[in-house]
Amino acid sequence: QQRVLSGIQPSGKLTLGNYIGAMKNFVALQDEHECFYMVVDLHAITVPQEPAALREQSESVAALFVAAGLDPAKASIFMQSHVPAHAELGWLLTTMTYMGELERMTQFKDKSEGKEAVGAGLFVYPSLMAADILLYNANLVPVGDDQKQHLELTRDLAGRFNYRYGDILVVPEPFIPKVGARIMALDDGTKKMSKSSPNGGSFITLLDSPDDIRKKISRAKTDLGREIQFDVQNKPEVSNLMTIYAQCSGQTVEQVQAAYDGQGYGAFKKDLAEVVVQALEPLQRTYADVRASGEIHRILKDGAERANVVAEETLRNVKEAMGFLPRS
Ligand code: ATP
Ligand code: MG
Repeated sequence: QQRVLSGIQPSGKLTLGNYIGAMKNFVALQDEHECFYMVVDLHAITVPQEPAALREQSESVAALFVAAGLDPAKASIFMQSHVPAHAELGWLLTTMTYMGELERMTQFKDKSEGKEAVGAGLFVYPSLMAADILLYNANLVPVGDDQKQHLELTRDLAGRFNYRYGDILVVPEPFIPKVGARIMALDDGTKKMSKSSPNGGSFITLLDSPDDIRKKISRAKTDLGREIQFDVQNKPEVSNLMTIYAQCSGQTVEQVQAAYDGQGYGAFKKDLAEVVVQALEPLQRTYADVRASGEIHRILKDGAERANVVAEETLRNVKEAMGFLPRS
């Protein structure tokens, strides 16, 4: 049985991008694989977080995992900070990561751009992410397209470690959806949708009210021209909205294009808003139930217990191979 691991940062409310690019696959993989899904709070603090907001968002993301269809009996759901091995292996791998590798990472360039004070954690983020994955000997890592580069580095680090210290770590494969791996921002078809964007109108969260969804979609940027045509090069904004439509309605982009042949942006956007509202309605209902029940604390406790067993064993093997004196 193959091992699966992935995570989402509690750096804001989960967006349609997170859902379509990553979480949908989390759910799809849980039946046939041994899955570990975590809320990566240690990653979220690579940019400043208010303590109260971090606490609330952490619980919210964990509850959304369940509301989106993850079954705690099948998948281990846990907080990254509840498994101390992440920070520890993260450090060990940081010492094996080259500055040049980190400097090439586009996420670092994007997130540090124009900022005066950039935390060192943002720079070494990819080493911690490599630790997240390698601790579980994960074979598959379901992520959106933006994490491809970090995963490539993870593979390099696993290979580097094994070359130096013996065959201990599993080299993971990315698992990226064919459609929707990069949902774009509603206000700019050249930037990916991100939950931490300062412009709330650029993303739709899984918890947005129907009215907010309608407002955001009606204000979404559209390209010049008026055809509903899938053409990522020339019509990135409309193509993005078509991808969202297709993913939320279970159709292909071709079907969406055929259905709106000859119609204008206005009619399309109106329908799109309803499609999104409907797709999110059951999830929002379950989310409210999960939050009200308080069961998330038990789910996270169980998940962390299972995760710690696996992670501690890998960490022990890694430290022994590197020459750390065992604590007897
Ligand atoms: P932040 O802005 O804080 O980085 P984010 O929206 O990028 O938040 P992450 O927690 O960094 O979300 O990523 C969680 C998962 O969602 C990752 O697998 C990532 O690849 C995926 N993902 C993020 N944004 C998108 C997007 N716009 N389209 C598809 N997948 C995405
Ligand atoms: Mg991100």
